[in-house]
Amino acid sequence: MAESTSSRSSWAAERAAMGPPMPYREGALSYEPTVFCRCRLKSLRRISWSDGNPGRRFFRCRRCRTPSDYGFFSWIDDEYPQFLKDLLLDLRNAVWSLKDIEWMQQAVSKEIEALKENNHQLEVEDLCKAEELKAI
Ligand SMILES: [Zn+2]
Repeated sequence: MAESTSSRSSWAAERAAMGPPMPYREGALSYEPTVFCRCRLKSLRRISWSDGNPGRRFFRCRRCRTPSDYGFFSWIDDEYPQFLKDLLLDLRNAVWSLKDIEWMQQAVSKEIEALKENNHQLEVEDLCKAEELKAI
């Protein structure tokens, strides 16, 4: 089943908001030598998981997405060949799909537990009503 470009982008944006598909091996500030932003803070080293630059590392101001963001952004790695981009996107999407399945399994397990509890309550109520009927 083919997905349209817009729904794939939307899907990727939703997943990107959930965080990186792979855990970082090092903290965003655990690198040397230090790269300073224009605001004189040590820059964050991150990994892009966007459709255009999957797996590509970059430096970014710590204040990104805040009003005091100075807009500092710098790629560390050169752009990857399209083959590697496609491969990384396929792997990224596979990880996100597995995480979706895991999330759905957890949600289903919680629902099952809630239904079991509800079922137990109904059984108790039925027993009480049966006792009431016997007493009549
Ligand atoms: Zn900065």
